[in-house]
Amino acid sequence: MVMLTKTAHPPFTLYSVETGRFKLDGGAMFGVVPKTLWSRHIESDDKNRINMAMRCLLIKSEATGRTYLIDNGSGHKFDEKFSSIYGFDYAHSTLEGSLKQQGFDAAGITDVIFSHLHFDHCGGTTRLNEEGNLEHVFPNARYWVVESHWETASRPNAREKSSFFPENLGPISDSGRLNLIKPGHVYEDGLTNMVMNGHTIGQQLPVVHLNGKRLIFVADLLPTHVHIPLPWIMGYDMYPATTLEEKEEFLAGCIDGKTYLFFEHDADCEVGTVEKDGKNYRIGKKLTLSDI
Ligand SMILES: [Zn+2]
Repeated sequence: MVMLTKTAHPPFTLYSVETGRFKLDGGAMFGVVPKTLWSRHIESDDKNRINMAMRCLLIKSEATGRTYLIDNGSGHKFDEKFSSIYGFDYAHSTLEGSLKQQGFDAAGITDVIFSHLHFDHCGGTTRLNEEGNLEHVFPNARYWVVESHWETASRPNAREKSSFFPENLGPISDSGRLNLIKPGHVYEDGLTNMVMNGHTIGQQLPVVHLNGKRLIFVADLLPTHVHIPLPWIMGYDMYPATTLEEKEEFLAGCIDGKTYLFFEHDADCEVGTVEKDGKNYRIGKKLTLSDI
């Protein structure tokens, strides 16, 4: 069983929720950066794939009683071919198992915040029941998506289409519980978002304020700590030049000594700080939630 972490900063208690591992092509993960460089920092398998986490963040608020889950992994609604391409590993962890281990169940989640709707971020919203029909995993949750992202996910271009699955988006749309929001949304005092448009239009990064510190769920802006240097941008990004500008502004705000990044996809680093060395940014401390 994977070690799950937590940290308490009233009114918030934060919990890591691991939902399984999978693998993505290392070349696609590092865009124009050659393998001779990225392979010094991250291992790849015989098919050139690197190991990826699908690590979600659960936030319990004593102030409002709300229980937020940010993203929910890929879910399990795949055929064998798809599973073998992406090397899904649910022996490592599952959404249901990790929620239980942290003392929660899916029915108690009041809010699911989606960074964005690519399949590895929202597939856990539904599962197949014994009859093979889709059912909601979070029957009582409100869903939160940035409005501009919902528009792009509803009418994707040919390149991004393969990341948005109708069986993921349909039930969210039909639930009657979908809330479309703007950049700078305030979920409650101390829990806000910032919005990025390079990876996909309208990706939100939730920000939790923790008594003078802040933790940012960096989702696919910085999928791993190895992506901190400015030009290390995923080939998957829709608008890489926009990502470059967004990273520059974002990272400049992260070297204040009180900002911590929560990595969704980094298999080895859960939380990290950022350092600047001359003009270059790099990982500072590698931490877990419990260290904040
Ligand atoms: Zn994505």
